Amino acid sequence: MERGRLVISYAHPDDESFGLGAAIPKWIDDGIDVYLICATNGEVGTVPEELRGKHETTAALRLSELECARRHLKFKEVFMLGYRDSGMPGSETSRHPESLCYQWQNHPANVTDKVKEILQRARPHVVITFNRYGGYGHPDHIAIQRATVKAFEELRTPASGAALNGVYRPQKLYYAAFPKATIWLRILSARLKGQDPRRMGRNQDVDVVKTLEHIEPVHARIPVARYFDVWEQASSCHASQGGGRITRTSRWLRRFLYSKQGFTRVFPAPERDRVDEDDLFANVDLNSRQT
Ligand SMILES: [Zn+2]
Repeated sequence: MERGRLVISYAHPDDESFGLGAAIPKWIDDGIDVYLICATNGEVGTVPEELRGKHETTAALRLSELECARRHLKFKEVFMLGYRDSGMPGSETSRHPESLCYQWQNHPANVTDKVKEILQRARPHVVITFNRYGGYGHPDHIAIQRATVKAFEELRTPASGAALNGVYRPQKLYYAAFPKATIWLRILSARLKGQDPRRMGRNQDVDVVKTLEHIEPVHARIPVARYFDVWEQASSCHASQGGGRITRTSRWLRRFLYSKQGFTRVFPAPERDRVDEDDLFANVDLNSRQT
């Protein structure tokens, strides 16, 4: 039997560790080959000067952090799309012609084709990306989400029947879910501290209330509590992005909030919005060449 293959399609060096750093080692343990698409080089991340080290550019530092995380997460391969980080909406950086945001707005087919090409090379049974709000509204997250969904759809239903020949078709598509309880807690703790939950994050450009409003139904929950160590190690690699901060949340609270990683199943569409899977590879035909 063939090994299961999974592609995670994300935007920045750190999205993989912060978001799925406990789920990825679980798949590796299950014998799944996990591939990562990282669409940008993370140029716009704010980096404390003392952490810059020998790296001349923010991108070089962020990529070295991703390399460190990769050693813990054991990706089969990491595909860099090489776009420029766009930063938050309306910023100067989001209008840079090499930014993912600009490219997605002006040349969407090119971005989709790049994702399609990688899906043809990696031949995943399962594809994961952000939800439709890009998790917390980051325009790069939204751009790679749209491009990944479009790529998946085009591979599932090629424009002409003839194009089916030789086209690899992934079998399942999911959005990774943010746990609702975590977002509730963030809103609550912001209010208790007198902060505005609609203006959070280092640059006060994260609207946590909107994040909550955009949460989507969860159809799969996979147990990941055994993998908190790897999650900590991989996240700590992204020190310039506050990587050690998950260890500031006590383990019991993390166990309560993050023991299971949720996913929204997009394809095949669920009949009802309820949790009906504890494994993303349920009902996947590993031997099928063209499903
Ligand atoms: Zn990101």
